Amino acid sequence: AENTLADIVSHAKEYGFVFPSSEIYDGLAAVYDYGPNGVELKNNLKQLWWKAMTQLNQNVVGIDAAIFMHPLTWKASGHVDGFSDPLIDNLDSKKRYRADVLIEEKAAEYENAGDKPRADALLAEMGRLLTAEDLAGVKQLILDEKILCPISKTANWTDVRQFNLMFSTQVGAVAGDSSQIYLRPETAQGIFVNFLNVQKSARQKVPFGIAQIGKAFRNEIVARQFIFRMREFEQMEMQFFVRPGTEGEWYEHWKATRRRWHEVMGLPAEKLRFHDHDKLAHYAKAAVDIEYEFPFGFKEIEGIHSRSDFDLTQHQTLSRKKQQYFDNDVNPETGKPYGNYVPYVVETSVGADRLFLATLCQAYQEETITEGEQTKTRKFLKLHPAVAPVKAAIFPLVKKDGLPDKANEIYNALRHDFRLVVEEKDSIGTRYTRQDLIGTPFCIAVDHQTLEDDTVTVRHRDSREQTRMPISELRGYIGEAVSL
Ligand code: ATP
Repeated sequence: AENTLADIVSHAKEYGFVFPSSEIYDGLAAVYDYGPNGVELKNNLKQLWWKAMTQLNQNVVGIDAAIFMHPLTWKASGHVDGFSDPLIDNLDSKKRYRADVLIEEKAAEYENAGDKPRADALLAEMGRLLTAEDLAGVKQLILDEKILCPISKTANWTDVRQFNLMFSTQVGAVAGDSSQIYLRPETAQGIFVNFLNVQKSARQKVPFGIAQIGKAFRNEIVARQFIFRMREFEQMEMQFFVRPGTEGEWYEHWKATRRRWHEVMGLPAEKLRFHDHDKLAHYAKAAVDIEYEFPFGFKEIEGIHSRSDFDLTQHQTLSRKKQQYFDNDVNPETGKPYGNYVPYVVETSVGADRLFLATLCQAYQEETITEGEQTKTRKFLKLHPAVAPVKAAIFPLVKKDGLPDKANEIYNALRHDFRLVVEEKDSIGTRYTRQDLIGTPFCIAVDHQTLEDDTVTVRHRDSREQTRMPISELRGYIGEAVSL
């Protein structure tokens, strides 16, 4: 059966993955907290991304920049003037919408009805109007398309206006414009302003990349779909600095590399697709999304953007500090070094929370099984062992005869290598079920035979098959399974 987002949301809450923020006060819209299993899963995703970037590429190094930045950063980046979404209110329902999302949904309707040309034409027209900043035209499009408010079935709309998505606050005790700062809406700018610090201190030559994982904040107009669109979220971004003229190859390289990574992490190829942007962001030369098929349709999980020298040039202008690199490689056409230039940038940007949601949606399984005479539904999370919160659970069959001590002995021998739990309570079947629900790939049963020959039964989450194995082989066996 197709699982729904509602199944995922309730599973995530019940088994300690994701809780609504400040729930005892009825929550805070579009903000969520990660529970004991959620934080492990999310940390695993982040560590694997970090490894794929900084450990597998000698020419990619990391940083951890502050969330607060000098306010001119956001002037330079274009966020003060251009980081906004077109907003529209329906006067009957008093509901607020993103004008572009309303039109996109209409286009999806055409596409689902088999009229792809009409869908494409509509999206192209929207892209044209937004690029021309023709907000009256966007409203007219909504009226022409007879887009109705789903609640009131009327089209009594306000004008379309731009709404800036940045959160701002005051630094220090003095109020006023001069002390206003922003919470970063993307992590990328912390990388751009540190470009030369990193290049020099890490002695990197172009092409090279800088990776970062960190919080970003956006005052999203419409918060929906659980952790898909949050107001506080985490990004994993990598800016790759290249010689102008080579950005096309690097764009293709990172596009392919990043898609492959998602497949290795367990998102199946048929549920991933590329989607080229109809409407380019203010900084972009080319942009593509990697989309995953969520229960609510194909949606972006990662963006690959060719940003040209837009950001570094902007920072050079506003800071009046040169943001150039001297390339002493010889240009075969001139026979001379390439010399000074502002590098071009190809960026990969993935949301840790969206990746988490995709991972959870993909892993969530309900299957019908027969045990003896009984048929029942088994729910489990088919997580890649590398990302599972608990790698193995150790169960003494009974709470006596020295079996718990033996279980703890195994735990102590392996806890430095893997995150494990020992569980003594309840029947073995109940204990298996509990681990299935959080995606633990292996359950290790310790029984009386274990005391005699140092072997245990390993039960596999996906197949429910059991194998007998010497304790001495556990480290290698689990280690193999949890590596990518
Ligand atoms: P969208 O069109 O969905 O708003 P975007 O194109 O603005 O996303 P980018 O600015 O390219 O997104 O950000 C890169 C990545 O950051 C996205 O692919 C997504 O995974 C993540 N991301 C962006 N906004 C949010 C958000 N509000 N909540 C969670 N993740 C987000």
